[in-house]
Amino acid sequence: MAKAFWKAALLLGAGLGAVPGASAGFKVIALGVNGGVEEGNLTSYLIRSDSQTRYLALDAGSVLPGISKALEKGSFPEVTVQNAAPLTPQGAVFRNLISGYFISHAHLDHLAGLIIASPQDTKKPIYGSADTIDTLRQHYFNWRVWPNFSDSGSGQRLGTYRLNAPRPGQRFSLGLSGLDGVIYPLSHGGVTSSMLLVSSAKENQQLESFAYFGDTGADKQEKSRDLNAAWRVLGDEIKQQRLKGMIIETSYANGMSDSQLFGHLTPALLLGELKNLEQVAGGAGSLKGLKVVISHMKPSLTAGDDPRAKIIRQLEQGNSLGVNFIFMQQGDSQDF
Ligand SMILES: [Zn+2]
Ligand SMILES: [Zn+2]
Repeated sequence: MAKAFWKAALLLGAGLGAVPGASAGFKVIALGVNGGVEEGNLTSYLIRSDSQTRYLALDAGSVLPGISKALEKGSFPEVTVQNAAPLTPQGAVFRNLISGYFISHAHLDHLAGLIIASPQDTKKPIYGSADTIDTLRQHYFNWRVWPNFSDSGSGQRLGTYRLNAPRPGQRFSLGLSGLDGVIYPLSHGGVTSSMLLVSSAKENQQLESFAYFGDTGADKQEKSRDLNAAWRVLGDEIKQQRLKGMIIETSYANGMSDSQLFGHLTPALLLGELKNLEQVAGGAGSLKGLKVVISHMKPSLTAGDDPRAKIIRQLEQGNSLGVNFIFMQQGDSQDF
């Protein structure tokens, strides 16, 4: 029965309903976790509701290499050589299980995988802020950098991707993933980045939510109130016991001077910002056990330097909030 269902799901590719009897929550798979430098492992996560079969991609720095790694690690138990045929398992996940993309901002380490794989993709929506969608249209899908696989912009429109720029702060439907989203702006060293609050809507049931942050600096360094506004939204989600978790960046270990941050966070800056969230989420202890996935660590090419280990140590040592920090590697799967 289950096997037949997945076979049908993969073959049909569209119009999939809910999985019967599945429990509530989200599943996240890391397709890429780093913030630059190595092109095979750049920021990209897949998320789906436990009640759905299809995923939404949260950024798309490395897509196909991440799917391969996740298949190796057993993170797609629903896909087999048999039910993927005539596609490869990698192709079946890419073409049929990813139903659309949210792009937090238009830096290459967040969309290179999508651009490179676009000639083999199926028709899908791409969601982002007006700024991100404009950059995609004008500077990537323009027949100079890459053929125009979108449905707007210059020259012939190949139409694989439907570009969507929903208004910030307004709820919209994330296509066939069965999820809803709301985009909030973030300040990222002069670039407009964004946070997506994903929620699974069910009739007569409490909504569950999950927050995905694109690159962001701390409010003080950015001279911004964007994170403060995001914390107010998430504080409410926590008070209503809806927030299942979040993904947020920590690019550098402590000690980087402000002028070298380029709109990013360190462990000390993230912990400071999470204290602000704690305040609006109900005060001391309100973040206990909250699952926070750390993304976008920047690898070092210096022998003996291990920024990942440093960042993990510094976050754990400063964790007076009782947050549950999670350090996913490429291909890992995690339930929320
Ligand atoms: Zn980045
Ligand atoms: Zn960036």
